[in-house]
Amino acid sequence: RVKNLHNSDVGYYRADLDEVARQRRTMVVELARAIDDDQFELYYQVQKNVQTREIVGYEALVRWRHPERGMVSPMEFIPLAEHSGLIIPLGEHVMRMACRDAAAWPRPYKVAVNVSPVQMLDDSLPRLVEQVLDETGLDPKRLEIEVTESTLVADPDHTVRILKAVRALGVSVAMDDFGTGYSTLASLSLFPFDRIKLDKAFLAEIDRSPQAKAIVQAVLTIGKSLNIPVLAEGVEREDQMTMLHEEGCMEAQGYLLGRPAPSIDLPDVVVPLRLVERAG
Ligand code: C2E
Ligand code: MG
Ligand code: MG
Ligand code: MG
Repeated sequence: RVKNLHNSDVGYYRADLDEVARQRRTMVVELARAIDDDQFELYYQVQKNVQTREIVGYEALVRWRHPERGMVSPMEFIPLAEHSGLIIPLGEHVMRMACRDAAAWPRPYKVAVNVSPVQMLDDSLPRLVEQVLDETGLDPKRLEIEVTESTLVADPDHTVRILKAVRALGVSVAMDDFGTGYSTLASLSLFPFDRIKLDKAFLAEIDRSPQAKAIVQAVLTIGKSLNIPVLAEGVEREDQMTMLHEEGCMEAQGYLLGRPAPSIDLPDVVVPLRLVERAG
């Protein structure tokens, strides 16, 4: 049976497409169930001040603990969740988990939550943020949302209104993956972001490519002129930290400074928590 189906190139192609489509459909059904079944977990990755190495905050990164497939990467399921609309309930769930976790941390570190462009399409985000802050008691100053520049492309006026409404709650707004989109500089003029997160692609190339280094320097200059702190993503080596320090970059995030880990495994969060529990 299989031989017959696969005995031409067209047959292979069709079978592969069907298989991919089938897998996608299965995953969408599983995604829908996974929220109710509590299969999503948040990992947190530390963000540090480059000069003092003090902790600035933690970025929440969603993980799907699939019953058969193990940990599934957000790069695999976020696009599916976006296409199927499931990013709306998933995004709510993530916001709630992140604020709840952060509210329980014994130190008032900031928590950064990624928000998909699809979550920006309607007016519900400010209400969700307000409701979750209210529920969890998290100080709005401790919450930051991360949006990509693509968020601003489809309907800039609408998006700016939403971002302003979120900002009005006392929450800050970071531009994620800066430098990778089509309207990088334009988006900076549309909304006064509280932080620029320079995409990890530039740091990866920095010692090999004079172009990458020039772009990092240019972004740091823009940040300084606009008075917006720049955080470099994807710092993996000490020499990159040295370079960032020399260039005057304020903040960094990457495997060198800490891998994403569950809230209870964060050394800087859990050690004091255990002491607090013991003392209390
Ligand atoms: P992002 O927001 O740019 O997050 C940073 C990604 O870079 C994370 O991948 C992180 O684990 C990875 N990373 C951190 N340090 C390093 C490093 O030193 N080197 C390298 N090579 N990578 C590093 P992750 O967790 O797989 O997430 C991938 C993307 O999925 C995120 O990119 C974000 O766009 C999306 N995502 C993750 N969680 C959420 C979420 O809760 N909601 C939404 N809408 N998107 C999410
Ligand atoms: Mg992010
Ligand atoms: Mg990023
Ligand atoms: Mg990204």
